[in-house]
Amino acid sequence: MATILDGKKLAQIIQAEIKAEIAEFHRQTGQRPGLAAVLVGDNPASQIYVRNKRLACDRVGMASWLHELPPSTTQTHLLELIAKLNTDAQVHGILVQLPLPKQIDESVIVQAVAPEKDVDGFGTQNLGLLAAGLARYYPCTPFGVQQILLRNGIAIDGRHVVIVGRSNIVGKPLALMLMQKAEGANATVTVCHSRSRDIGSLTRLGDIVVVAIGQARFLKADMVKPGAVVIDVGMNRLPDGKLAGDVAFDEVEKVAAAITPVPGGVGPMTITMLLWNTLRAAQTLGRAPRRMA
Ligand code: NAP
Repeated sequence: MATILDGKKLAQIIQAEIKAEIAEFHRQTGQRPGLAAVLVGDNPASQIYVRNKRLACDRVGMASWLHELPPSTTQTHLLELIAKLNTDAQVHGILVQLPLPKQIDESVIVQAVAPEKDVDGFGTQNLGLLAAGLARYYPCTPFGVQQILLRNGIAIDGRHVVIVGRSNIVGKPLALMLMQKAEGANATVTVCHSRSRDIGSLTRLGDIVVVAIGQARFLKADMVKPGAVVIDVGMNRLPDGKLAGDVAFDEVEKVAAAITPVPGGVGPMTITMLLWNTLRAAQTLGRAPRRMA
C-alpha cells in the first residue's frame, strides 16, 4: 500500500513557518503583509475558495481585504479597481479569483495586475521569468506540488516526471519548474494533454506522475509503474456532492509507492503557497526581483 502524502498536515507545518516570519516582519517594519482578494459574481465555488484563502491569511497574521463585485461588473470597472490596488502600499498581493463573468476578458485582467503583486504568478512577466529560470513567484499549485515532493523526501533530480494536463496555471508552469537546472528540480519532464496518444504508455514511464485535467478517476492502476509517486491535482465535484481527484485512488494506492489524497492533498498546499508568495512580495516589494528558492 502506498504512503499517503498528507497535504493538510504539511500545509499546517508551512503555515506555522510563515506565521513566525510574519511576526518577525511585523516586529521589524510595523507592517503586516496584505492580500487583496477580488471576487466578481456569485459563483459558490469561488466564494468558498476566497473565504478559505482569507481564513488562512487570518491564521498566519496576514492582512486581507475582500472586494466583492456584482456579476454585471464591467471590465473597465474591474480594471479601475486593480489600478487602485496596484498603487496601494498596504496591498502586497492581489488575487483575482477566476473564472470571471463572460463580459470580462480574463487575460486582460491577469495582465493588469502589477507583476510584483501577481502572487498567483499567472501574468506573462512572471511566467516568462519562470521559463527563463529567474522566477519571482512560482504559481501556487505547482509550487505546492513541488513542496509535497521535496518535504516528503522524494527526490526530483534526475527522475522522470510525467504531467497530464498543460494548463497555464498547473501543468505548464509545473513542467517549467521541474525541468529547471536548479535544486529541487532537474527532472526529465513529459507533458501529456488531450491530443496525446496512448497516455497510459507515457504515464507508465513516470517515476513521478502528476495528473491535473479535471476528470474523475482518469488515472487507473494499469497506467502507473509499480513504485511510482502519484500526485493528484484534480478537484471534481461528483453528482453526490463529494469531491474526487483525477486518480482512481482506491486502485492506484495499491500500485504506487506514495500518493496524495483528494481532499487533503494538493488543495491545502495551493492556499499555503499563496500565503508564502504574499509574504515574499511584502519582503521584496520595491526591490529588484530575486530568484525564489
Ligand atoms: P484546465 O485549464 O481545464 O486544463 C485541463 C488540461 O487537461 C488541459 O491541458 C487539457 O488538454 C487536459 N486534458 C483534459 N482532458 C484530458 C484527457 N482526457 N486526457 C489528457 N489530457 C486532458 O484545468 P486546470 O485549471 O489545470 O485544472 C485541472 C484540474 O485541477 C481541475 O480538476 C481543477 O479543479 C484542479 N485544480 C486543483 C487545484 C488545487 O489547488 N488542488 C488548483 C488548480 C486546479 P488540452 O490542453 O489539450 O485541452
